[in-house]
Amino acid sequence: MDEVQQLPLRSEVPVELTWDTTKVFADDVDFEKALLQVQEHTAQIGELAGTLIDSASQLAQEITAVLQLYRQLEKVYVYASLKSDQDTKNNHYQGYQAQADALVAQVSSATAFLEPAILNIDTETLQQYLQEPQLQIYQHFIAQITNKRDHVLNAEQEALLAGASDIFNTGSNVFNVLTNADLQFPEIQDVQGHSVQLSDSVYGILLESSAPEVRKQAFAALYQVYGQFKNTLASSLAGEVKKNNYYAKVHHYASARQAALAQNQIPPVVYDTLITEVNDHLDLLHRYVKLRKKVLRLPELHMYDLYTPLVGEAPIKYTLAQAKQTAKQALQPLGVDYLQRVQEIFEHRYIDVVENQGKRSGAYSGGSYDTPPYILLNWQDNLDNLYTLVHETGHSVHSWYTRNTQPYVYGDYPIFLAEIASTTNENLLTEYLLQTQSDPHIRAYVLNYYLDGFKGTVFRQTQFAEFEHFIHQADAQGKPLTAEFMSQYYGDLNACYYGIDVVNDPQIALEWARIPHFYMNYYVYQYATGFAAASALSQNLVHNNAVAQIKYLDYLKAGSSKYPLEIMNAAGVDMTKPDYLRQAFAVFEQRLEELEKLL
Ligand SMILES: [Zn+2]
Repeated sequence: MDEVQQLPLRSEVPVELTWDTTKVFADDVDFEKALLQVQEHTAQIGELAGTLIDSASQLAQEITAVLQLYRQLEKVYVYASLKSDQDTKNNHYQGYQAQADALVAQVSSATAFLEPAILNIDTETLQQYLQEPQLQIYQHFIAQITNKRDHVLNAEQEALLAGASDIFNTGSNVFNVLTNADLQFPEIQDVQGHSVQLSDSVYGILLESSAPEVRKQAFAALYQVYGQFKNTLASSLAGEVKKNNYYAKVHHYASARQAALAQNQIPPVVYDTLITEVNDHLDLLHRYVKLRKKVLRLPELHMYDLYTPLVGEAPIKYTLAQAKQTAKQALQPLGVDYLQRVQEIFEHRYIDVVENQGKRSGAYSGGSYDTPPYILLNWQDNLDNLYTLVHETGHSVHSWYTRNTQPYVYGDYPIFLAEIASTTNENLLTEYLLQTQSDPHIRAYVLNYYLDGFKGTVFRQTQFAEFEHFIHQADAQGKPLTAEFMSQYYGDLNACYYGIDVVNDPQIALEWARIPHFYMNYYVYQYATGFAAASALSQNLVHNNAVAQIKYLDYLKAGSSKYPLEIMNAAGVDMTKPDYLRQAFAVFEQRLEELEKLL
């Protein structure tokens, strides 16, 4: 692979393009000292287990001790993972990462006593304790635990379940081993006639090919292999669903969905509203598909024709300096204070910019309460990377506000809220580009980028959410989750989502067999709700600047100090109602209309 050899070694990357890890620990010596300290504190905290909590101050002390340990652990973990991600071929730092991983397991097992200990205090006594000043700060933290009171079994029963968790995970383990190690995919021909070894990730790249024959071959070859294992994959998925249903039942939840959503106090109406509204707006997806068919000039549009770019290569390039400048312009609706945070992130070596040999691929924003919010990029001079930059900056500024406003106990935020901050920034960039670019090629590219993102996030993830809920309900009603049963439903659902302009290839009915997110217990719906909420928020920011700005910053500052729906409500989006979704569909329709005219 010639390209890999052209990449610089880590040591050759100019220092100003690397992240400054001395803001976590000055050097490896300091890291190793801190690691030892966390190990010692972990051993000490284990001694608290089994002691009966009999006063408010003892409760406050134990919570504080546990949180303090996590706070130290996170810093150690961040240093190890930054160092390991910057060069995964560096054995010294791979060793740090392995030690940090082991430490996470030790800390979580040593501190597992706290939750049962709190639940062991009877409600009345706990109410009295909560009047005490030293527990004021922990009110919401304790409420999150005591809300589970009716759903936690006695210690012996919980221990039996916990001890069997490896066995319960057999379904997802089989899926992972089968799809990552055992499945053998054939070689297929790319557009230049070269043989390419097919895999799940190569499949994604081949579906973006401009040659219909390559896409068709990749699709047929991939599903031919999955088809051979459809019964095994149905069994592994059924095992996962049965686990979720069983856990929910023994913990006295009405359903697996209720159990999963209860973590963040999300009422099921949020999920149902999403599915209803998306189904009510499927005509927009059908319209988009029709446009695709027309622009690609295909006699028939297949499921494998949905990912190839409609408008060719991006007609505009950005160097990193230009991208930073454009990002700052685009994020202006967020106000001066927000832009100062962006400036800080851009100018203080919080970003690891370029690709080097062994560097972890992709992009992320990370860090912990006591470190800067770091960003990992693998920068290329194009528009997609500008979007990545504003996305990760959205996470980092969210982290900055949360950590600088909230005490450690609420200094993080759940996934349900996380992607809203990053996607709002992407939406603001889209708004900005559409306001400032008049070249029809650039406009078409930006509109298509947005529409494809919406299709993949709102429509596709809701389709997944609908399927996931269906199979859990079917299993709860005693229906066997065979490959035929799941394929029948999935195929019909897919036909309904994409409409009559897409040929209903039988292979797509098997798509359920290869989606890892179906092993993540009611996770996917949050992508769709998050995207739509971000759409509503960015519209508010652009059109209704002053008030929307204050409310938005309040959301970024709230961390996990309240439940996510309360935080979103205060930001101006009621996620139990359909309005925010309808607002997002209105934007989709307006942009689809413009692209229809342009093309
Ligand atoms: Zn993200």
